[in-house]
Amino acid sequence: MTEFDEIIIGQGLAGTTLAWHLLDRGRRVLVIDRAQPGTSSRLAAGLITPITGQRLTVSWRCREFLEQALSFYRQIESRTSTSFLHADGALRFWQNDREQHVFARRLEEEPEFASQVDELSEVPDGVLADQGGFTMPTAARLNVPLFLDASRAEFQRLGAYTEADINLANDLNLEPGRASIPRLDVTARTVVFCQGIAAADNPWFRGVEFDATRGEILTVRIPQLEECRTLHRGVWLASLGDGLYRLGATSRWNDLEEGPTEAGRDWLCSRLREWLNCDFEIVAHDAGVRPIVKGRHPLLGRHPTLPQFAYFNGLGSKGSLQAPAMAAQLAAHLAEGTPLGSEVDLNLRTDCRT
Ligand SMILES: Cc1cc2nc3c(=O)[nH]c(=O)nc-3n(C[C@H](O)[C@H](O)[C@H](O)COP(=O)(O)OP(=O)(O)OC[C@H]3O[C@@H](n4cnc5c(N)ncnc54)[C@H](O)[C@@H]3O)c2cc1C
Repeated sequence: MTEFDEIIIGQGLAGTTLAWHLLDRGRRVLVIDRAQPGTSSRLAAGLITPITGQRLTVSWRCREFLEQALSFYRQIESRTSTSFLHADGALRFWQNDREQHVFARRLEEEPEFASQVDELSEVPDGVLADQGGFTMPTAARLNVPLFLDASRAEFQRLGAYTEADINLANDLNLEPGRASIPRLDVTARTVVFCQGIAAADNPWFRGVEFDATRGEILTVRIPQLEECRTLHRGVWLASLGDGLYRLGATSRWNDLEEGPTEAGRDWLCSRLREWLNCDFEIVAHDAGVRPIVKGRHPLLGRHPTLPQFAYFNGLGSKGSLQAPAMAAQLAAHLAEGTPLGSEVDLNLRTDCRT
């Protein structure tokens, strides 16, 4: 059997960022993924947005995570000679008076909020922004599929990747101090489950409660709009280049299994028509599930009674921003036993004892 320090099951944002951090610590790592289309990371628009929602909330530990994320992705860009991070900023336009009032209050009361916003200097042609808005200069966008593909190619080159669909009930053998997958002839001190929403069926982590949402997203062509910054007004529009944009996203707690719906498509299009004065054509329509867990923040850590197993999940709707910092924390925990932050420690927030 080939021996590894860590076997990671799942090569979405969680598994990929963790693999990089462990490899950087000199660990012997194997990433296993079933290369399934339509996963959360494959569909994500990759927006890194410091201020979100109708209440204009500054994202949790935004400054620190942003710094780590931008520096991490830049480093992987240079190591893989691929460009997938677009740090162009974003514009947000007011939908109503209430948003303006919330903005004014936050600007006055929260130094962190004030440090993440700027005045709106101009409005792109074709966009209706009658009430004004603000700029988020630090907002960025990660081309997630490109990041995953470039990482996978490098992991393959290093002998650290294999494609397989792991049957959790039959494929894993537990031994003292290690876990093995005999079908693949591999063994490791730790198997880390980075499965996204598929972990809802993981028999060893039943104590994790998901509060996942289904999101629909469109790819649209807008030949008359030339804008590389992400635009927000109820919905968001993020450039893919060559006149193509992602338009998103819906959020529903029910019918998680359902694919793209007519209602979702119509809602996104009508919201966009409220402020975009250009024709657009729908090129693609997708639906996926955001792996949100109860308590909102991500969950990391070793299993309480089976230390050969560890877990990384709950990136929710902020995977691009939070994954690099969370993965760094988990890698230090697995490799050196560094304690985890209490907000994300699996064993403080769930009961996974079997
Ligand atoms: C419509 C939509 C829009 C989004 N937009 C954004 C956004 O703009 N910005 C942002 O930050 N986040 C966004 N997200 C959320 C973001 O995508 C998630 O936070 C992130 O992708 C979760 O990554 P993950 O690695 O935990 O899970 P996943 O991406 O689901 O990855 C899990 C991987 O594990 C594999 N796997 C699972 N079980 C097994 C098994 N048994 N054997 C082998 N492989 C297995 C799966 O095939 C998959 O590749 C969006 C999500 C959706 C649905």
